[in-house]
Amino acid sequence: MNRSIKKVAVLGSGIMGSRIACHFANIGVEVLLLDIVPKELNAAEQAKGLTLEHPAVRNRIVNDAFQNTLKASPAALYSAKFASRVKLGNFDDNLAEIKNYDWVLEAIVERLDIKRSLFEKVDALRKPGTLITSNTSGIPIHLMSEGRSDDFQKHFCGTHFFNPPRYLKLFEVIPGPQTDKSILDFLMHYGDLYLGKTTVLCKDTPGFIANRLGIHALVETIRVAAEMGLTVEEVDKLTGPVVGRPKSGTFRLSDVVGLDTTVNVCNNLVQMQHDESRAAFELPPIMAKLMENKWLGDKTGQGFYKKSKDEKGKTLILALDLQTLEYKPSVKVKFETLEKTKAIDDLKKRFGILLKGTDKAGEFYRRTFASGFRYASNRIPEISDELYRIDQAICAGFGWEMGLFTTWDAIGVKNMVGIMESLQLNPATWVYEMLEAGNESFYKVQDGKKLYYDIPSKSYKAIPGQESFIILENKSQNIIWKNAGASIYDLGDGIAGVEFHSKMNTFGAEVVEGLNRAYAIAEKDFRGLVVGNDSNEAFSAGANLAMLFMFAIEQEYDEINLMIAQFQQTMMRARYSSIPVVTAAHSLALGGGCELNLHSDKVVAHAETYMGLVELGVGLIPAGGGTKEMALRCSDLYQTGDPELNILQTAFMNIAQAKVSTSAQEAVEMNYIKADRDQIVLNRSRLIAEAKQAAVDLAENGYTQPKHRTDIKVQGKTGLALFKAGIGSMRMANYISDHDAKIADKLAYVICGGDLSYPQNVTEQYLLDLEREAFLSLTGEKKTLERIQGLLTGGKPPRN
Ligand code: NAD
Repeated sequence: MNRSIKKVAVLGSGIMGSRIACHFANIGVEVLLLDIVPKELNAAEQAKGLTLEHPAVRNRIVNDAFQNTLKASPAALYSAKFASRVKLGNFDDNLAEIKNYDWVLEAIVERLDIKRSLFEKVDALRKPGTLITSNTSGIPIHLMSEGRSDDFQKHFCGTHFFNPPRYLKLFEVIPGPQTDKSILDFLMHYGDLYLGKTTVLCKDTPGFIANRLGIHALVETIRVAAEMGLTVEEVDKLTGPVVGRPKSGTFRLSDVVGLDTTVNVCNNLVQMQHDESRAAFELPPIMAKLMENKWLGDKTGQGFYKKSKDEKGKTLILALDLQTLEYKPSVKVKFETLEKTKAIDDLKKRFGILLKGTDKAGEFYRRTFASGFRYASNRIPEISDELYRIDQAICAGFGWEMGLFTTWDAIGVKNMVGIMESLQLNPATWVYEMLEAGNESFYKVQDGKKLYYDIPSKSYKAIPGQESFIILENKSQNIIWKNAGASIYDLGDGIAGVEFHSKMNTFGAEVVEGLNRAYAIAEKDFRGLVVGNDSNEAFSAGANLAMLFMFAIEQEYDEINLMIAQFQQTMMRARYSSIPVVTAAHSLALGGGCELNLHSDKVVAHAETYMGLVELGVGLIPAGGGTKEMALRCSDLYQTGDPELNILQTAFMNIAQAKVSTSAQEAVEMNYIKADRDQIVLNRSRLIAEAKQAAVDLAENGYTQPKHRTDIKVQGKTGLALFKAGIGSMRMANYISDHDAKIADKLAYVICGGDLSYPQNVTEQYLLDLEREAFLSLTGEKKTLERIQGLLTGGKPPRN
């Protein structure tokens, strides 16, 4: 059956239901969101004289839940406008409407009896053939579908989103005993392509894959920490970015999730009689104590951390002393072993040092890694037949950069087995068999493909689904040129790729050289160029200001002028080279990172792209063609019939406020991404492959080198008068400083095309020259230099 999903009914509007509804709305699906009818009137309803029959009362639970979700941060929707795609209702009045929906997704309270009773009603009302799935985190799938019709059972399975569903990448699909294979195939494809998720097929085992291993890691960490006398802050430091995991580490994460949620999962898992490490899920005494005190984390105002105020009213973060259960001001943590890894950017290279540490950090890593690796190796084939699924699930579900088996490879499998044996935490037999047969790693890369060790066949196999991904890390044999800031690849099919590898992929001299070299190589030997990278942090965080700062301090203005001119031309070549240039934008694309996207022939952006021209924050204006380009884009919009000055004012304000989009969709609304030309991709892993395809399509559709524009309509004095009045009143009201006003004046001057006496057409070069002059004059300003220095020294630029 050719299935398409246009309408989804989400049952339950709690934390998960409302957010899942928003994510479907994000991808353009029409949603019906239902919840229970309240049994009693609240005080406000009583005061208004409403009855339980009033529609506002009947939908109160779903209304309140959805409104709270819309206010939540980080936002559940890509754009506030998408809220209108969600229709609200209640189970009593609206459940029958599910017959018009393609997929019914249950996300109500985690109780088997309640879920079963709802499924009985759904079975009677749904149209045969519709998907019906549960978001349960741990109730066995087979228990939920017991007693239901054949058609229900064939179309039923678990679809487990992680919280928050928009941001966490994992989507676990769990078959029930009767689930039709075509339904599983469909959901695996839909999850990957449409929901943008790392979609992992699980077995119907307790906690499925990610929670089983993630919660094991959490409780083991807490246990080892307690035994070693480590503090909450020490553990969070050891289990954070230094090992490629989120900043929240272990205890802060627990506070965010809510200790009760973790404890519920533990209580389920501890009942598994077959699990050799069952005892690990017995609550460590510290967790039991916190539960007793209702110190559950953010939801109860305190957990392992607590916010407080000092005598001056400044916020203080207190951390729980695990021995005395008293809160104390949080302290900065230092370990000799961590110091040694500070200069190592490559995560994989850090593990060798971390595991060898002779201080407490080293011991902590040896103990927790040994226990985690042993547990993971023993879970095969129980929870998964293949080791790569375990890594995929833990990375996508918990935001780890490297999964358990990948980390083990980085340490060296044999080396780690030695450590494990010394701690009497031996791995599963298959690991020994793998090593004995001369296979020394769980993964390897061959011909640009990532292979995993397949246990039953005792051989390496390609991880399926890679055909749709291009992961540059696996393509090192395709590098055709490289310097310290950039690498140029042959991506195949006549397309070259350029990747930056500076810190946060910022533009320094080497990156600019790499980009220019890439245009030249692509123009000579290829038919298209993709600019992209594998980073999860930044497409590019903009220009590296260190060099600029140095020249400015030494008043080397000729050098600065040359540097900006070269940067402008580098951006312009993205559009005016003889081959199509496609940028694969994602995460942060700021300042110069935004300007490069503004100039490429096509942007293929991940849905989570945070794009903005942020130069004003450091006392500058966008001068890599960014201000020019927004003047040009406004000029192109003047035909739409909207007042021209309104269009220009929106662009001006976006730059003046250094506004950054909170999604690719918002970047469309800011006119940084073009809805009619660019493309938004939901799955981050597909981004470079999609960008490459876009370059192929442009080339095959007869790409011709564009001509420089000479028809940009600028407003001159008419626009300047408006902006000057606005800036003046903002200054008068003290919303902005004198220096802010000075920079905003310069921005207004450039975006209006100078003080021409009437609106007229100008060229791109004319605007680029204005940009450059304004930028150059600002580098001579003391307050601008103070802002840049503030940023470079790791803090925030001062608002001077
Ligand atoms: P929640 O408590 O926020 O929401 C549960 C919803 O169920 C509420 O809107 C409530 O009104 C409704 N409900 C209560 N009693 C009901 C009844 N008798 N009949 C019908 N509906 C009723 O819970 P949640 O965190 O959104 O969890 C929903 C599901 O998602 C659960 O199965 C949970 O295990 C799973 N889940 C939760 C998370 C998470 O982090 N919260 C993550 C993944 C999966």
